Amino acid sequence: MSNASFLQEVGKRRTFAIISHPDAGKTTITEKLLLFGNAIQLAGSVKGKRGPHAKSDWMTMEQERGISVTSSVMQFPYKGRIVNLLDTPGHEDFSEDTYRTLTAVDSVLMVIDGAKGVEDRTIKLMEVCRLRDTPILSFVNKMDRDIRDPIDVMDEVESVLKIAAAPINWPLGMGKEFKGVYNLYTDTIHVFQQGMGHTINDDVQIQGLDSDEATTLLGAYADDIREEIELVRGATHEFDVEEYLAGRMTPVFFGTALGNFGVREMLDGFVEYAPPPLARDTINRSVASTEEKFSGFVFKIQANMDPKHRDRIAFMRVCSGKYSKGMKMKHVRLGKDVKIADAVTFLAGDRSHVEEAISGDIIGLHNHGTIQIGDAFTEGEDLKFTGIPHFAPELFRKIRLKDPLKTKQLQKGLQQLSEEGSTQVFFPERSNDIVVGAVGVLQFEVVAYRLKDEYKVEAIYEPVSVNTARWVDCDDEKKFEEFKRKCVDNLAIDGGGHLTYLAPTRVNLALTEERHPEVRFRATREH
Ligand code: GDP
Repeated sequence: MSNASFLQEVGKRRTFAIISHPDAGKTTITEKLLLFGNAIQLAGSVKGKRGPHAKSDWMTMEQERGISVTSSVMQFPYKGRIVNLLDTPGHEDFSEDTYRTLTAVDSVLMVIDGAKGVEDRTIKLMEVCRLRDTPILSFVNKMDRDIRDPIDVMDEVESVLKIAAAPINWPLGMGKEFKGVYNLYTDTIHVFQQGMGHTINDDVQIQGLDSDEATTLLGAYADDIREEIELVRGATHEFDVEEYLAGRMTPVFFGTALGNFGVREMLDGFVEYAPPPLARDTINRSVASTEEKFSGFVFKIQANMDPKHRDRIAFMRVCSGKYSKGMKMKHVRLGKDVKIADAVTFLAGDRSHVEEAISGDIIGLHNHGTIQIGDAFTEGEDLKFTGIPHFAPELFRKIRLKDPLKTKQLQKGLQQLSEEGSTQVFFPERSNDIVVGAVGVLQFEVVAYRLKDEYKVEAIYEPVSVNTARWVDCDDEKKFEEFKRKCVDNLAIDGGGHLTYLAPTRVNLALTEERHPEVRFRATREH
């Protein structure tokens, strides 16, 4: 690849993930995106839906994870771009991986259920996006239903998520009266056609909201809708691409994923506005995606992904340069060169071997226990990427052994599983308890299963009165000693050896923060 064509290829990449609350329509929209990318012939086959017993049935869980892993990263071409869509585990498989995936993308698509507005999970995921001011494009879904007043939805996005919302198109009616969307910038109506959910339908357009054709389409609603749009123009922000790229403004599209309508307009907007691979910070310097020397970092490790290949895959975001089959890379943390002969890529839902991947792409490395989250691979430079943090867990359990003689194995297992990012482990200062933390409840089951399967220890969970955790540090040594003395009952050391405050309640955390203003309480910790 010549330098010019390398730069051109990098410029085509658009690497993103979807953030949404369960059931907002992420899976459905993913199917439609792949349809537009010609990645699947027929929409509706991305992944199996979860059955009611998925939670307690490991085999089902494993199979589902197997299926969802093949769609962990989906690459498809669209309008001269190469789009990389990274799946963010949702529902019961929500985990720290969901958060960490967001550290590997250049932008996100926020899907909002128009009837429900901004929901919890979206708020949380948005906080993660804030860490890097990730640009956010929004899609308000389910316009084929009677949703809330779109103006209210806009207001909620602005007030709850603290981001300016700039509608690009506006819905013409909703539910049974949904007529289409109107592009506020091109004065074009895209006419909704029913029953086209599984195919790519022609984009039927009407030019001009004031045209006779528009009057015919809108019928009795024509005057109301024109008035509403006047109002919308006055009351909402004008789209500013710089503000979007800075993470301060989100362009908003409306449509129905199920009806496969409005998705094309959104995707067109996405490939036009979304940033190509951005520079990544390291503790040494910033690494531009246009640099020719290879570098990348690991943001997720997935185990038990395919029942036929019981291997672990380390997902790496390529930050610069080019991976080619069989190349040598330096595993920076180990200070060792490794030859990567068989990296995996995830082309449109199918696991296939790649010869090449460049900045912005994701590759999977087979991991035999030597790779951890946050690890950097380079062509020799000792880079350490930042911005791939641990996130404070939100769920906690005490873990106890059925056979107390196996403490060593338990500790080793937990240590490794925490390095891999499957869970976090805390050793309270004042007791011999071991506390594990997670952001998604299924993580506990995965850990128990893997402890048994891989480390031959049977563990039992018990409730523990911990509500949240914060990593603590302080510049003033005396003050820190005083804090440690006073709060010893709530202090623990995490799997990485870092001092952590385990708060029994939110109120307790707030009070403790207030009492010790010199101490920093961090909700994230860098690897
Ligand atoms: P996810 O949990 O975010 O992946 O959501 P899904 O894509 O699985 O969608 C959740 C439910 O909403 C499913 O029953 C979908 O068929 C339905 N759904 C998704 N998009 C739409 C839409 O545009 N209109 C309607 N009426 N239902 C939708």
